[in-house]
Amino acid sequence: MLTAITGINWGDEGKGRMVDLLCQDYDVVVRYQGGNNAGHTVVNPKGSFVLNLIPSGIFNENVVNVMGNGMVIDLHHLVGEIENLRKGGITITPANLKISDRAVVCLPYHVDQDCLEESRLADKKFGSTRRGIAYVYGDKFMKKAVRMGDLLDMDSLLPRLADIVEWKNLTLERIYGAEPVKLEDLVQWLRDNFEPLKDFVCDTGLFLDKAAKAGKNIMFEAQLGALRDIDFGIYPYTSSSSTIAAYAPVGAGIPNHRLDNVVGIIKAYSTCVGEGPFTAEMFGPEADALRQAGHEYGAATGRPRRVGGFDVVASRYGTRMQGATELALTKMDVLSYMDEIPVCEAYEVNGEVVHEFPYGTALDAAKPVYTTLPGWKCDISGCRKLEDLPKEAVDYIRYVEEKTECKVRYVSVGPERDAYITL
Ligand code: GDP
Repeated sequence: MLTAITGINWGDEGKGRMVDLLCQDYDVVVRYQGGNNAGHTVVNPKGSFVLNLIPSGIFNENVVNVMGNGMVIDLHHLVGEIENLRKGGITITPANLKISDRAVVCLPYHVDQDCLEESRLADKKFGSTRRGIAYVYGDKFMKKAVRMGDLLDMDSLLPRLADIVEWKNLTLERIYGAEPVKLEDLVQWLRDNFEPLKDFVCDTGLFLDKAAKAGKNIMFEAQLGALRDIDFGIYPYTSSSSTIAAYAPVGAGIPNHRLDNVVGIIKAYSTCVGEGPFTAEMFGPEADALRQAGHEYGAATGRPRRVGGFDVVASRYGTRMQGATELALTKMDVLSYMDEIPVCEAYEVNGEVVHEFPYGTALDAAKPVYTTLPGWKCDISGCRKLEDLPKEAVDYIRYVEEKTECKVRYVSVGPERDAYITL
């Protein structure tokens, strides 16, 4: 069974939490895109953890975790993340964590470049997380990147690295007037930070191919949601990689295999970090109440998230782009305080009501068409069966199914591993 766990919305849907829960029936969990620019929060019997790079299957002793070729890896960050998890009692060895030799390395100058550009943009900034992600993906496509496997043979890498540094310094010095990168400093950084990681690097594509052919269950974990996909998201306010399920086998290293199913993680309301069009956005006390109820502050950056009601237009689009075969509706418990639940049922674009997710300037001009659904006004966090839920909560689930044209299979009613209902 090959299953992708992907985000339907703008990210922060609770993918990490659902991977931690659902991977109990899986042998392998593989992250297929992104870097340490977003965080998954996982709460389970071992504690509360924030993961930026390591797959969320790491808490399950029977799961092998793979960081796929589609990822970009900041070595220093990864070393710190492994240390933190070990301090929390989590075992991490080359037996349960494997890093693709084809994954691209995020270097300190990528982070510098990100910060320099955000500072240059000043008021026009994109709201980058300043982790260098766009710059390392950019270099990957310009064939000026270093990959994890290259670091296994530093002597062979050195001449190419010298050429890359010479090229990068043209940008740093002449465009930004910044200090040039010193090759020897970079080499030292690479040696220091790669040393603790070198035993984890291997041909993970071959490992996954053998696992799939042996009938193992493989789960593909996405970072960020459909609306942050580089092609189908709210470009240019997107991530720099493909967050969609169709990319999962490629970014994992097994493009010769097909997914059997796609679980779309969909949030009971909307949140969005950073800049860009967010039609369903709510403001003022109504937004503050929702932000507080959902603890909507970024796991990687601590930034307050923008919030809004469930967005039918964007969610139907996200469900389609992910090719979701079933949905997990998360954070239902957060809505329990509301008398009536606001949902954005359509957009109005230049006086016209639209139901399909618009492009470009039409999206920028879109205004939300809000309606309300009855609230349930009671604590549902202890519910473990559909029958435990109040009628209004069941109606809300049915509304999401009807509007997205996809069945809800799981409903999560709290951050803890067991706080969910299977339908
Ligand atoms: P991800 O990046 O998609 O994994 O999502 P994040 O970890 O950024 O954000 C999800 C947040 O919501 C985390 O803090 C989770 O612990 C929390 N969470 C997940 N599911 C639920 C839920 O059903 N109810 C509540 N109250 N919190 C949840």
